[in-house]
Amino acid sequence: MTCPICNKPTVEAYKPFCSKRCTDVDLARWFNEAYSAPVIEIDDEPDEEPSPANDN
Ligand SMILES: [Zn+2]
Repeated sequence: MTCPICNKPTVEAYKPFCSKRCTDVDLARWFNEAYSAPVIEIDDEPDEEPSPANDN
């Protein structure tokens, strides 16, 4: 098994990575992706009934 970041042999302590640095790299990558990913989740909640116009 090799480190997905730099393809060096995996180190048991940092599986599946080879070093703390690579775990950090992967985490940062994941984090950035999570951040840059567009939020397309649409709430499927029913619309609230519009409150009657109080035009007084
Ligand atoms: Zn690595």
